[in-house]
Amino acid sequence: MADAVIDLVLHSCPHCSATNVRTTLETEILPYGEPGPDQVKIQCEIVVRHCDSCKESWLDWVGEGMRDRAIQVWKEEDGG
Ligand SMILES: [Zn+2]
Repeated sequence: MADAVIDLVLHSCPHCSATNVRTTLETEILPYGEPGPDQVKIQCEIVVRHCDSCKESWLDWVGEGMRDRAIQVWKEEDGG
């Protein structure tokens, strides 16, 4: 499902406008909630863009969406 989303995105670097942008899938641990003993860590996979021209890496709306989705799924499983 995520792969289809990745392929639809037009890859252009926001830093140097180059189009040789690579996409990788990376595992991220999201801290959720107030810092302290009640804080949970949500593991999720997000897409990260890497520019081969300027070597920048960034998260775009696809990655942000996957991050939001992971939090949403976690909330649902938690019964909230
Ligand atoms: Zn670039």
